[in-house]
Amino acid sequence: MTNNPSYEMTADYISRVKALRKKGATYLVLTFGCQQNEADSEKIRGMCEAMGYSPAKEGDSCELVIVNTCAIRAHAEMKALSVIGNFKSQKLNNPDMIVGVVGCMAAESEVAAKIKRSFRFVDFTAEPASIHRIPELIYTAMTQRERSFILGSESCEIVEDIPVVRQSTYRAWVSVMYGCNNFCSYCIVPYVRGRERSRDSAAIISECRELIASGVKEITLLGQNVNSYKSDINFAQLITKIAELKGDFILRFMTSHPKDTSDELIEAIRLSGGKISPHFHLPLQSGSDTVLRRMNRTYSIERFMNIVDKLRESIPDIAISTDIIVGFPGESEQDFEKTLVALSKVRFDMVYAFIYSERAGTRSAGWEDDVPKNVKTERIERLLKLQGEISPERNERFIGEVQRVLVESFDESENTYVGRSPHNKQVRFTAEKAEIGKFIDVRIDSARITCLVGTAK
Ligand code: SAM
Ligand code: SF4
Repeated sequence: MTNNPSYEMTADYISRVKALRKKGATYLVLTFGCQQNEADSEKIRGMCEAMGYSPAKEGDSCELVIVNTCAIRAHAEMKALSVIGNFKSQKLNNPDMIVGVVGCMAAESEVAAKIKRSFRFVDFTAEPASIHRIPELIYTAMTQRERSFILGSESCEIVEDIPVVRQSTYRAWVSVMYGCNNFCSYCIVPYVRGRERSRDSAAIISECRELIASGVKEITLLGQNVNSYKSDINFAQLITKIAELKGDFILRFMTSHPKDTSDELIEAIRLSGGKISPHFHLPLQSGSDTVLRRMNRTYSIERFMNIVDKLRESIPDIAISTDIIVGFPGESEQDFEKTLVALSKVRFDMVYAFIYSERAGTRSAGWEDDVPKNVKTERIERLLKLQGEISPERNERFIGEVQRVLVESFDESENTYVGRSPHNKQVRFTAEKAEIGKFIDVRIDSARITCLVGTAK
Protein backbone atom coordinates (compact mmCIF):
# COMPACT_ATOMS: atom_id res chain seq x y z
CA MET A 1 0.00 0.00 0.00
CA THR A 2 1.04 3.56 -0.54
CA ASN A 3 0.56 6.75 1.46
CA ASN A 4 0.37 8.79 -1.69
CA PRO A 5 -3.19 10.13 -2.02
CA SER A 6 -2.88 10.74 -5.79
CA TYR A 7 -1.98 7.14 -6.39
CA GLU A 8 -4.82 5.99 -4.14
CA MET A 9 -7.21 7.56 -6.64
CA THR A 10 -5.42 5.89 -9.57
CA ALA A 11 -5.47 2.56 -7.72
CA ASP A 12 -9.20 2.93 -7.06
CA TYR A 13 -9.96 3.46 -10.77
CA ILE A 14 -7.62 0.59 -11.70
CA SER A 15 -9.79 -1.76 -9.57
CA ARG A 16 -13.02 -0.38 -11.03
CA VAL A 17 -11.88 -0.87 -14.65
CA LYS A 18 -10.54 -4.32 -13.77
CA ALA A 19 -14.00 -5.32 -12.59
CA LEU A 20 -15.65 -4.03 -15.79
CA ARG A 21 -13.33 -4.90 -18.65
CA LYS A 22 -14.09 -7.86 -20.90
CA LYS A 23 -12.37 -11.17 -20.07
CA GLY A 24 -9.26 -11.61 -22.22
CA ALA A 25 -9.19 -7.91 -23.21
CA THR A 26 -5.94 -6.72 -24.78
CA TYR A 27 -4.17 -3.34 -25.04
CA LEU A 28 -1.69 -1.60 -27.29
CA VAL A 29 0.54 1.36 -26.37
CA LEU A 30 2.29 3.15 -29.23
CA THR A 31 5.08 5.57 -28.38
CA PHE A 32 6.54 8.51 -30.31
CA GLY A 33 9.40 10.77 -29.27
CA CYS A 34 12.05 10.87 -26.59
CA GLN A 35 13.16 8.57 -23.77
CA GLN A 36 10.92 10.49 -21.38
CA ASN A 37 7.95 9.29 -23.43
CA GLU A 38 9.35 5.74 -23.45
CA ALA A 39 9.52 5.93 -19.65
CA ASP A 40 5.96 7.30 -19.44
CA SER A 41 4.75 4.49 -21.72
CA GLU A 42 6.23 1.91 -19.35
CA LYS A 43 3.98 3.37 -16.63
CA ILE A 44 0.99 3.37 -18.99
CA ARG A 45 1.62 -0.32 -19.74
CA GLY A 46 1.96 -0.93 -16.01
CA MET A 47 -1.49 0.60 -15.40
CA CYS A 48 -3.03 -1.30 -18.35
CA GLU A 49 -1.78 -4.63 -17.01
CA ALA A 50 -2.87 -3.73 -13.45
CA MET A 51 -6.35 -3.16 -14.94
CA GLY A 52 -6.19 -6.72 -16.27
CA TYR A 53 -5.49 -6.05 -19.96
CA SER A 54 -2.87 -8.19 -21.63
CA PRO A 55 -0.54 -6.95 -24.37
CA ALA A 56 -1.70 -7.14 -28.02
CA LYS A 57 0.62 -7.27 -31.01
CA GLU A 58 0.74 -4.24 -33.32
CA GLY A 59 -1.78 -4.89 -36.11
CA ASP A 60 -4.00 -7.16 -33.98
CA SER A 61 -7.42 -5.88 -32.95
CA CYS A 62 -7.60 -4.95 -29.29
CA GLU A 63 -9.92 -3.38 -26.70
CA LEU A 64 -7.69 -0.48 -25.61
CA VAL A 65 -5.27 1.65 -27.65
CA ILE A 66 -3.17 4.45 -26.16
CA VAL A 67 -0.98 6.60 -28.41
CA ASN A 68 1.74 8.49 -26.50
CA THR A 69 2.67 11.43 -28.72
CA CYS A 70 5.56 13.85 -29.32
CA ALA A 71 5.24 17.55 -30.23
CA ILE A 72 8.88 18.58 -30.56
CA ARG A 73 8.79 19.03 -34.34
CA ALA A 74 5.93 19.28 -36.87
CA HIS A 75 7.03 16.03 -38.52
CA ALA A 76 6.54 14.05 -35.27
CA GLU A 77 3.01 15.44 -34.96
CA MET A 78 2.03 14.58 -38.52
CA LYS A 79 3.26 11.01 -38.06
CA ALA A 80 1.29 10.58 -34.82
CA LEU A 81 -1.91 12.03 -36.32
CA SER A 82 -1.72 9.64 -39.24
CA VAL A 83 -1.23 6.65 -36.89
CA ILE A 84 -4.15 7.79 -34.71
CA GLY A 85 -6.32 8.15 -37.85
CA ASN A 86 -5.70 4.47 -38.67
CA PHE A 87 -7.73 3.41 -35.63
CA LYS A 88 -10.93 4.98 -36.99
CA SER A 89 -11.92 1.90 -39.01
CA GLN A 90 -11.06 -0.47 -36.13
CA LYS A 91 -13.33 1.54 -33.86
CA LEU A 92 -16.15 1.34 -36.43
CA ASN A 93 -15.84 -2.47 -36.39
CA ASN A 94 -15.55 -2.60 -32.62
CA PRO A 95 -17.44 0.32 -30.98
CA ASP A 96 -16.41 -0.89 -27.48
CA MET A 97 -12.75 -0.30 -28.28
CA ILE A 98 -11.31 2.61 -26.24
CA VAL A 99 -8.81 4.95 -27.92
CA GLY A 100 -6.72 7.43 -25.91
CA VAL A 101 -4.20 10.04 -27.07
CA VAL A 102 -1.73 11.16 -24.42
CA GLY A 103 1.65 12.92 -24.21
CA CYS A 104 2.93 16.23 -25.48
CA MET A 105 0.53 16.69 -28.42
CA ALA A 106 -2.44 16.18 -26.10
CA ALA A 107 -1.20 19.18 -24.09
CA GLU A 108 -1.38 21.57 -27.05
CA SER A 109 -4.77 23.28 -27.01
CA GLU A 110 -4.99 23.49 -30.82
CA VAL A 111 -4.22 19.82 -31.27
CA ALA A 112 -6.60 18.77 -28.49
CA ALA A 113 -9.33 20.86 -30.15
CA LYS A 114 -8.58 19.23 -33.51
CA ILE A 115 -8.82 15.75 -31.99
CA LYS A 116 -12.08 16.68 -30.26
CA ARG A 117 -13.52 18.03 -33.51
CA SER A 118 -12.13 15.76 -36.23
CA PHE A 119 -11.09 12.50 -34.50
CA ARG A 120 -14.44 11.67 -32.94
CA PHE A 121 -13.45 8.05 -32.33
CA VAL A 122 -10.86 9.18 -29.76
CA ASP A 123 -12.32 8.69 -26.26
CA PHE A 124 -9.85 10.74 -24.24
CA THR A 125 -6.71 12.85 -24.27
CA ALA A 126 -4.36 13.46 -21.34
CA GLU A 127 -1.28 15.66 -21.11
CA PRO A 128 2.01 14.20 -19.78
CA ALA A 129 1.46 15.47 -16.23
CA SER A 130 -1.89 13.62 -16.06
CA ILE A 131 -1.04 10.11 -17.25
CA HIS A 132 -1.87 8.77 -13.76
CA ARG A 133 -5.50 9.69 -14.58
CA ILE A 134 -5.71 7.26 -17.54
CA PRO A 135 -7.61 4.57 -15.53
CA GLU A 136 -10.19 7.22 -14.54
CA LEU A 137 -10.60 8.29 -18.19
CA ILE A 138 -11.05 4.68 -19.30
CA TYR A 139 -13.63 4.19 -16.56
CA THR A 140 -15.55 7.29 -17.73
CA ALA A 141 -15.47 6.06 -21.35
CA MET A 142 -16.75 2.64 -20.24
CA THR A 143 -19.50 3.75 -17.90
CA GLN A 144 -20.71 7.09 -19.23
CA ARG A 145 -19.76 6.78 -22.90
CA GLU A 146 -18.37 10.30 -22.53
CA ARG A 147 -15.25 11.73 -24.14
CA SER A 148 -12.74 13.41 -21.76
CA PHE A 149 -10.04 15.97 -22.55
CA ILE A 150 -7.59 16.89 -19.79
CA LEU A 151 -5.87 20.11 -20.67
CA GLY A 152 -4.15 22.88 -18.74
CA SER A 153 -4.42 21.06 -15.43
CA GLU A 154 -1.06 22.64 -14.49
CA SER A 155 -0.67 19.53 -12.40
CA CYS A 156 2.63 19.75 -10.61
CA GLU A 157 2.23 16.76 -8.35
CA ILE A 158 4.51 13.80 -8.78
CA VAL A 159 2.65 10.55 -8.47
CA GLU A 160 4.89 7.81 -7.08
CA ASP A 161 4.14 4.08 -7.04
CA ILE A 162 2.51 3.84 -10.49
CA PRO A 163 3.03 0.23 -11.63
CA VAL A 164 5.61 -0.16 -14.41
CA VAL A 165 6.02 -2.74 -17.16
CA ARG A 166 9.58 -2.28 -18.36
CA GLN A 167 10.58 -3.12 -21.93
CA SER A 168 13.92 -4.57 -20.89
CA THR A 169 15.04 -6.78 -18.04
CA TYR A 170 18.58 -5.39 -17.97
CA ARG A 171 18.21 -1.67 -18.88
CA ALA A 172 15.93 0.81 -17.15
CA TRP A 173 14.86 4.43 -17.44
CA VAL A 174 14.39 6.29 -14.16
CA SER A 175 12.83 9.75 -14.34
CA VAL A 176 14.32 12.06 -11.73
CA MET A 177 12.60 15.29 -12.67
CA TYR A 178 9.80 16.46 -14.94
CA GLY A 179 9.13 19.63 -16.92
CA CYS A 180 11.39 22.51 -17.90
CA ASN A 181 11.77 26.16 -16.85
CA ASN A 182 14.18 27.26 -19.56
CA PHE A 183 11.83 28.45 -22.28
CA CYS A 184 14.33 28.22 -25.15
CA SER A 185 12.57 30.37 -27.71
CA TYR A 186 12.00 27.52 -30.22
CA CYS A 187 10.90 24.82 -27.80
CA ILE A 188 7.42 23.52 -26.96
CA VAL A 189 8.52 21.41 -23.97
CA PRO A 190 7.92 23.97 -21.16
CA TYR A 191 4.38 24.50 -22.50
CA VAL A 192 3.47 20.83 -22.73
CA ARG A 193 5.38 19.35 -19.81
CA GLY A 194 4.94 22.19 -17.32
CA ARG A 195 7.34 23.60 -14.73
CA GLU A 196 10.33 21.73 -13.33
CA ARG A 197 9.62 19.42 -10.43
CA SER A 198 12.04 16.91 -8.93
CA ARG A 199 11.31 13.56 -7.31
CA ASP A 200 12.47 12.90 -3.76
CA SER A 201 16.00 11.54 -3.76
CA ALA A 202 15.02 8.71 -1.40
CA ALA A 203 12.38 7.44 -3.87
CA ILE A 204 14.85 7.57 -6.77
CA ILE A 205 17.62 5.82 -4.84
CA SER A 206 15.28 3.12 -3.60
CA GLU A 207 13.96 2.52 -7.17
CA CYS A 208 17.57 2.18 -8.40
CA ARG A 209 18.43 -0.19 -5.54
CA GLU A 210 15.49 -2.44 -6.47
CA LEU A 211 16.39 -2.36 -10.16
CA ILE A 212 19.99 -3.39 -9.45
CA ALA A 213 18.80 -6.18 -7.13
CA SER A 214 16.54 -7.44 -9.94
CA GLY A 215 19.51 -7.74 -12.31
CA VAL A 216 19.37 -4.41 -14.18
CA LYS A 217 22.83 -3.53 -15.55
CA GLU A 218 22.24 -0.08 -17.03
CA ILE A 219 20.22 2.70 -15.41
CA THR A 220 19.57 5.94 -17.31
CA LEU A 221 18.36 8.87 -15.23
CA LEU A 222 15.97 11.03 -17.24
CA GLY A 223 14.87 14.64 -17.23
CA GLN A 224 14.42 17.34 -19.86
CA ASN A 225 17.09 19.18 -17.95
CA VAL A 226 18.41 16.50 -15.68
CA ASN A 227 21.24 18.47 -14.11
CA SER A 228 18.88 21.12 -12.73
CA TYR A 229 17.52 18.39 -10.40
CA LYS A 230 16.86 19.94 -7.01
CA SER A 231 15.53 18.30 -3.85
CA ASP A 232 17.26 17.71 -0.49
CA ILE A 233 20.40 17.04 -2.56
CA ASN A 234 21.62 18.27 -5.97
CA PHE A 235 22.19 16.21 -9.11
CA ALA A 236 25.92 15.65 -8.51
CA GLN A 237 25.14 14.32 -5.03
CA LEU A 238 22.29 12.19 -6.37
CA ILE A 239 24.42 10.41 -8.99
CA THR A 240 27.19 9.90 -6.46
CA LYS A 241 24.76 8.20 -4.05
CA ILE A 242 23.36 5.98 -6.81
CA ALA A 243 26.84 5.08 -8.08
CA GLU A 244 27.73 4.01 -4.52
CA LEU A 245 24.94 1.41 -4.46
CA LYS A 246 26.28 -2.17 -4.33
CA GLY A 247 26.09 -4.10 -7.59
CA ASP A 248 27.51 -4.43 -11.08
CA PHE A 249 25.87 -1.70 -13.18
CA ILE A 250 26.54 1.45 -15.17
CA LEU A 251 24.75 4.75 -14.57
CA ARG A 252 23.86 7.15 -17.40
CA PHE A 253 21.86 10.36 -17.50
CA MET A 254 20.31 12.73 -20.04
CA THR A 255 19.78 15.53 -21.02
CA SER A 256 22.05 18.13 -19.41
CA HIS A 257 21.84 21.87 -19.94
CA PRO A 258 25.19 23.67 -20.24
CA LYS A 259 24.10 26.32 -17.70
CA ASP A 260 23.73 23.65 -14.98
CA THR A 261 26.95 21.77 -15.74
CA SER A 262 28.85 22.42 -12.52
CA ASP A 263 32.40 21.51 -11.50
CA GLU A 264 30.83 19.35 -8.79
CA LEU A 265 28.95 17.33 -11.44
CA ILE A 266 32.10 16.78 -13.52
CA GLU A 267 33.97 15.76 -10.37
CA ALA A 268 31.20 13.28 -9.47
CA ILE A 269 31.67 11.51 -12.82
CA ARG A 270 35.45 11.43 -12.41
CA LEU A 271 35.35 10.13 -8.85
CA SER A 272 32.89 7.33 -9.72
CA GLY A 273 35.76 5.43 -11.37
CA GLY A 274 33.68 4.42 -14.40
CA LYS A 275 30.49 3.55 -12.53
CA ILE A 276 28.97 6.71 -14.04
CA SER A 277 29.26 6.58 -17.81
CA PRO A 278 32.07 8.73 -19.24
CA HIS A 279 29.64 10.19 -21.77
CA PHE A 280 28.09 13.65 -21.58
CA HIS A 281 25.26 14.80 -23.85
CA LEU A 282 25.60 18.57 -23.93
CA PRO A 283 23.30 20.31 -26.44
CA LEU A 284 24.99 23.30 -28.08
CA GLN A 285 22.16 24.17 -30.57
CA SER A 286 24.25 26.81 -32.42
CA GLY A 287 27.84 28.05 -32.61
CA SER A 288 26.80 31.69 -33.02
CA ASP A 289 26.39 33.89 -29.93
CA THR A 290 23.77 35.98 -31.77
CA VAL A 291 21.66 32.89 -32.47
CA LEU A 292 22.23 31.48 -28.96
CA ARG A 293 20.96 34.75 -27.47
CA ARG A 294 17.84 34.69 -29.64
CA MET A 295 17.34 31.03 -28.71
CA ASN A 296 17.46 32.10 -25.03
CA ARG A 297 20.10 29.48 -24.30
CA THR A 298 21.76 31.73 -21.63
CA TYR A 299 25.37 30.69 -22.41
CA SER A 300 27.91 31.96 -24.91
CA ILE A 301 30.05 29.81 -27.17
CA GLU A 302 33.02 30.75 -24.94
CA ARG A 303 31.25 29.43 -21.83
CA PHE A 304 30.33 26.22 -23.71
CA MET A 305 33.98 25.73 -24.76
CA ASN A 306 35.06 26.22 -21.13
CA ILE A 307 32.73 23.41 -20.03
CA VAL A 308 34.09 21.12 -22.76
CA ASP A 309 37.67 21.94 -21.65
CA LYS A 310 36.82 21.21 -18.01
CA LEU A 311 35.17 17.90 -18.94
CA ARG A 312 38.22 16.82 -20.94
CA GLU A 313 40.76 18.04 -18.34
CA SER A 314 38.98 16.06 -15.68
CA ILE A 315 38.03 12.95 -17.69
CA PRO A 316 40.40 12.91 -20.70
CA ASP A 317 38.67 10.18 -22.72
CA ILE A 318 35.10 11.39 -22.07
CA ALA A 319 32.69 11.12 -25.01
CA ILE A 320 30.70 14.28 -25.70
CA SER A 321 27.62 14.44 -27.92
CA THR A 322 25.37 17.34 -28.80
CA ASP A 323 22.17 18.62 -30.46
CA ILE A 324 22.25 21.29 -33.19
CA ILE A 325 19.37 23.16 -34.81
CA VAL A 326 19.98 24.51 -38.32
CA GLY A 327 17.91 27.19 -40.02
CA PHE A 328 16.73 28.99 -36.88
CA PRO A 329 14.94 32.28 -37.82
CA GLY A 330 17.54 34.86 -38.80
CA GLU A 331 20.42 32.33 -38.98
CA SER A 332 22.79 33.86 -41.56
CA GLU A 333 25.45 31.99 -43.54
CA GLN A 334 28.03 33.51 -41.15
CA ASP A 335 26.07 32.26 -38.12
CA PHE A 336 25.90 28.78 -39.62
CA GLU A 337 29.63 28.80 -40.41
CA LYS A 338 30.26 29.55 -36.72
CA THR A 339 28.41 26.31 -35.91
CA LEU A 340 30.73 24.43 -38.29
CA VAL A 341 33.73 26.08 -36.60
CA ALA A 342 32.39 25.00 -33.19
CA LEU A 343 32.04 21.40 -34.43
CA SER A 344 35.60 21.45 -35.78
CA LYS A 345 36.93 22.84 -32.50
CA VAL A 346 35.00 20.66 -30.04
CA ARG A 347 35.15 17.46 -32.10
CA PHE A 348 32.01 15.90 -30.66
CA ASP A 349 31.69 12.12 -30.66
CA MET A 350 28.17 12.39 -32.02
CA VAL A 351 25.87 15.15 -33.27
CA TYR A 352 22.07 15.00 -33.48
CA ALA A 353 21.13 17.64 -36.04
CA PHE A 354 17.61 19.00 -36.56
CA ILE A 355 16.08 21.39 -39.06
CA TYR A 356 14.25 24.19 -37.24
CA SER A 357 10.54 23.50 -36.99
CA GLU A 358 8.18 26.31 -36.02
CA ARG A 359 6.03 25.39 -32.99
CA ALA A 360 2.87 27.36 -32.33
CA GLY A 361 2.91 29.13 -28.98
CA THR A 362 6.70 29.40 -28.67
CA ARG A 363 8.46 32.78 -28.83
CA SER A 364 10.23 32.10 -32.11
CA ALA A 365 6.91 31.23 -33.78
CA GLY A 366 6.32 34.99 -33.79
CA TRP A 367 9.44 35.51 -35.91
CA GLU A 368 9.60 34.98 -39.63
CA ASP A 369 10.80 31.46 -40.52
CA ASP A 370 13.06 33.14 -43.07
CA VAL A 371 15.74 30.55 -43.91
CA PRO A 372 14.51 28.94 -47.16
CA LYS A 373 13.84 25.20 -47.06
CA ASN A 374 16.58 24.39 -49.59
CA VAL A 375 19.12 26.39 -47.56
CA LYS A 376 18.13 24.52 -44.38
CA THR A 377 18.58 21.19 -46.18
CA GLU A 378 21.92 22.26 -47.64
CA ARG A 379 23.13 23.40 -44.19
CA ILE A 380 22.19 20.15 -42.44
CA GLU A 381 23.95 18.19 -45.22
CA ARG A 382 27.14 20.28 -44.81
CA LEU A 383 27.00 19.83 -41.06
CA LEU A 384 26.52 16.06 -41.28
CA LYS A 385 29.34 15.78 -43.85
CA LEU A 386 31.74 17.54 -41.46
CA GLN A 387 30.62 15.41 -38.52
CA GLY A 388 30.99 12.32 -40.73
CA GLU A 389 34.72 13.10 -40.83
CA ILE A 390 34.98 13.77 -37.08
CA SER A 391 33.00 10.80 -35.69
CA PRO A 392 35.31 8.04 -37.07
CA GLU A 393 38.32 9.90 -35.68
CA ARG A 394 36.62 10.04 -32.25
CA ASN A 395 35.94 6.30 -32.50
CA GLU A 396 39.45 5.35 -33.65
CA ARG A 397 40.90 6.29 -30.27
CA PHE A 398 39.45 3.06 -28.86
CA ILE A 399 41.23 0.76 -31.34
CA GLY A 400 43.43 -1.71 -29.46
CA GLU A 401 41.63 -1.06 -26.15
CA VAL A 402 39.47 -3.50 -24.23
CA GLN A 403 35.98 -2.13 -23.54
CA ARG A 404 33.42 -3.51 -21.11
CA VAL A 405 30.35 -3.91 -23.28
CA LEU A 406 26.74 -4.52 -22.23
CA VAL A 407 25.36 -7.08 -24.72
CA GLU A 408 22.06 -6.00 -26.30
CA SER A 409 21.29 -8.28 -29.25
CA PHE A 410 22.60 -10.61 -31.95
CA ASP A 411 22.57 -9.37 -35.56
CA GLU A 412 22.09 -12.41 -37.76
CA SER A 413 22.74 -10.48 -40.99
CA GLU A 414 26.31 -9.68 -39.88
CA ASN A 415 26.71 -12.66 -37.55
CA THR A 416 27.81 -10.31 -34.76
CA TYR A 417 26.64 -9.40 -31.31
CA VAL A 418 25.65 -5.78 -30.69
CA GLY A 419 26.25 -3.98 -27.42
CA ARG A 420 27.06 -0.64 -25.84
CA SER A 421 30.38 0.57 -24.42
CA PRO A 422 30.71 2.69 -21.26
CA HIS A 423 31.14 5.76 -23.55
CA ASN A 424 27.74 4.95 -25.07
CA LYS A 425 29.20 3.74 -28.37
CA GLN A 426 27.55 0.91 -30.23
CA VAL A 427 29.96 -2.05 -30.38
CA ARG A 428 29.60 -4.87 -32.92
CA PHE A 429 31.68 -7.89 -31.99
CA THR A 430 32.22 -11.56 -32.63
CA ALA A 431 32.20 -14.03 -29.77
CA GLU A 432 31.81 -17.76 -29.38
CA LYS A 433 29.05 -17.03 -26.94
CA ALA A 434 27.76 -13.87 -25.30
CA GLU A 435 24.77 -13.45 -23.05
CA ILE A 436 22.23 -10.70 -23.76
CA GLY A 437 21.97 -8.36 -20.77
CA LYS A 438 25.43 -9.21 -19.38
CA PHE A 439 28.76 -7.37 -19.56
CA ILE A 440 31.58 -8.81 -21.67
CA ASP A 441 35.13 -7.60 -22.39
CA VAL A 442 35.65 -6.78 -26.08
CA ARG A 443 38.92 -5.86 -27.79
CA ILE A 444 38.29 -3.07 -30.32
CA ASP A 445 39.81 -3.90 -33.72
CA SER A 446 38.40 -1.13 -35.94
CA ALA A 447 36.04 1.83 -36.02
CA ARG A 448 33.21 2.96 -38.29
CA ILE A 449 31.31 6.27 -38.31
CA THR A 450 28.57 5.00 -36.02
CA CYS A 451 30.15 2.10 -34.15
CA LEU A 452 33.21 0.23 -32.90
CA VAL A 453 34.01 -3.27 -34.17
CA GLY A 454 35.76 -5.89 -32.07
CA THR A 455 36.28 -9.40 -30.76
CA ALA A 456 35.28 -10.78 -27.36
CA LYS A 457 38.33 -11.55 -25.20
N1 SAM B 1 16.18 19.48 -22.85
C1 SAM B 1 17.12 19.16 -23.82
C2 SAM B 1 17.94 20.41 -24.15
O1 SAM B 1 17.97 21.35 -23.46
O2 SAM B 1 18.62 20.42 -25.14
C3 SAM B 1 16.52 18.47 -25.03
C4 SAM B 1 15.12 18.76 -25.41
S1 SAM B 1 14.47 18.31 -26.96
C5 SAM B 1 13.50 16.93 -26.55
C6 SAM B 1 15.72 17.59 -27.92
C7 SAM B 1 16.25 18.46 -28.99
O3 SAM B 1 15.25 18.77 -29.95
C8 SAM B 1 16.76 19.82 -28.55
O4 SAM B 1 18.02 19.78 -27.97
C9 SAM B 1 16.75 20.60 -29.85
O5 SAM B 1 17.97 20.46 -30.54
C10 SAM B 1 15.64 19.92 -30.65
N2 SAM B 1 14.49 20.81 -30.80
C11 SAM B 1 13.68 21.30 -29.84
N3 SAM B 1 12.75 22.12 -30.38
C12 SAM B 1 12.98 22.14 -31.72
C13 SAM B 1 12.36 22.81 -32.82
N4 SAM B 1 11.33 23.63 -32.65
N5 SAM B 1 12.85 22.60 -34.06
C14 SAM B 1 13.90 21.76 -34.25
N6 SAM B 1 14.52 21.12 -33.26
C15 SAM B 1 14.07 21.30 -31.99
FE1 SF4 C 1 13.37 22.70 -24.59
FE2 SF4 C 1 15.32 24.34 -23.82
FE3 SF4 C 1 13.85 23.04 -21.97
FE4 SF4 C 1 15.58 21.69 -23.51
S1 SF4 C 1 16.10 23.28 -22.01
S2 SF4 C 1 13.47 21.10 -23.03
S3 SF4 C 1 15.46 22.75 -25.45
S4 SF4 C 1 13.13 24.61 -23.38
